[in-house]
Amino acid sequence: MNGDTTEAPVLVAGAGPTGMTAALALHARGVEATILEADPEDRDRSGSRAIYVHGSTLGTLERIHPGLGSDLVKEGLVWPTRRTLFRGKEVFNRTYDSPGGSGDIPHFTSVPQVVTERYMLDALESIGVDIHWDAEVVGVDSTADGVRVETDDGREWETEYLVGADGGGSAVRDEIGANFEGDQSENSFIIADIDETEDDPRPLERVFHYDAPAADGRNVLLVPFTGGWRLDIQCIEGDDPEELVSDDRMREFVRDIMGERYEDNLTWVSSYRFLQVMADTFVDDHRRVLLAGEAAHLLAPFGARGMNSGIADADEAASAVAVALDARTEAVARDEVELYAARREKAAEFNLGAAGQALEYLQGDDPVTVLRKEAAASLADRFETAGEWLDDAPYGPHDTPPIVSTGNY
Ligand SMILES: Cc1cc2nc3c(=O)[nH]c(=O)nc-3n(C[C@H](O)[C@H](O)[C@H](O)COP(=O)(O)OP(=O)(O)OC[C@H]3O[C@@H](n4cnc5c(N)ncnc54)[C@H](O)[C@@H]3O)c2cc1C
Repeated sequence: MNGDTTEAPVLVAGAGPTGMTAALALHARGVEATILEADPEDRDRSGSRAIYVHGSTLGTLERIHPGLGSDLVKEGLVWPTRRTLFRGKEVFNRTYDSPGGSGDIPHFTSVPQVVTERYMLDALESIGVDIHWDAEVVGVDSTADGVRVETDDGREWETEYLVGADGGGSAVRDEIGANFEGDQSENSFIIADIDETEDDPRPLERVFHYDAPAADGRNVLLVPFTGGWRLDIQCIEGDDPEELVSDDRMREFVRDIMGERYEDNLTWVSSYRFLQVMADTFVDDHRRVLLAGEAAHLLAPFGARGMNSGIADADEAASAVAVALDARTEAVARDEVELYAARREKAAEFNLGAAGQALEYLQGDDPVTVLRKEAAASLADRFETAGEWLDDAPYGPHDTPPIVSTGNY
């Protein structure tokens, strides 16, 4: 096939949750997209990763592919209890008797990313979207008339618009010359998946434990998802993350934090330093290439804004491309793509700020932050708001990004 040029109305680079959503959202708007994915079809996407799927994300998926949002609701679970401990003592505990949200879509669902991706793949197959596996995008050349894309199998593609959803190491982003610089978290975090046990399973609670004695004084977060648990441990000064993720040490952590019945159930572990970074532009000079998801921004995971905001980017990119394709003037087409960039760059700035606030709070070892946490813990028995503050703060503010105006009156 070397030397072939294939024409496609719209190309999407990357079959992660952002790229797959972009193709579904384009189809919903009457536009057929083709996906170019670097990985082979039988790839292994390990780790639970984006388990917390916001209600608004479920709503978007349901809107662009009826049944997709509600399937994820059926696959996922809504943990009813929020619980926080401080150095071994409970400071907050609240159970909700309803999953919230609206209609059949709850406030959130907790489901491993690999399951979400499987449902997205099925949805794409059902509407006949082509995914070209083993097709890594290596070259992007945009002009006022369209985009030429080169993949590493030697093929060339011509398209009207390209959505770059090729993740944190995006080649599309590099090819359009966008800068991608930002900060890295000071601490490392250990993230592990643990299978549920049939023998006396833990109650379905999201538990945050400050300075947990069972983890030798490290902060610990435990979150249930369908079939298992996500365990996050925040490293402290002097920790060697590589040593902490060894089989023996993880077995000890799991036993001490979750109970002996879980000690053989570790299925995945990794250590991370989180990046907080966004591209300096989400579109190319010719307004033909749109960056979305982690190709455009990387966020610390507290507040679960990563995949959720990538799906919002994808839906808005599809909307802009669909209008631009139908536009009768070049200026209107450019305007739609620019509006996409304005909206999603603003949203990314907002999300970076919110995730950064959570990260700063979690890493904060300055005397004021330490004192505030200790004071709140000591007041939590008498004032529920003090406990609630401790329970809430690790996830940052709950607000959603503001709607961006075009400046028109
Ligand atoms: C430990 C952890 C926990 C997380 N928890 C949460 C959470 O609770 N909630 C949340 O919302 N988010 C969470 N996230 C973030 C979430 O996993 C990501 O935001 C999400 O996967 C990003 O989706 P994406 O499609 O933009 O990028 P990716 O998932 O990275 O997908 C990019 C795709 O592009 C492909 N690709 C790469 N280069 C090329 C190329 N040159 N050409 C073609 N294809 C290419 C890749 O193979 C991949 O398939 C977490 C992440 C981690 C690591």
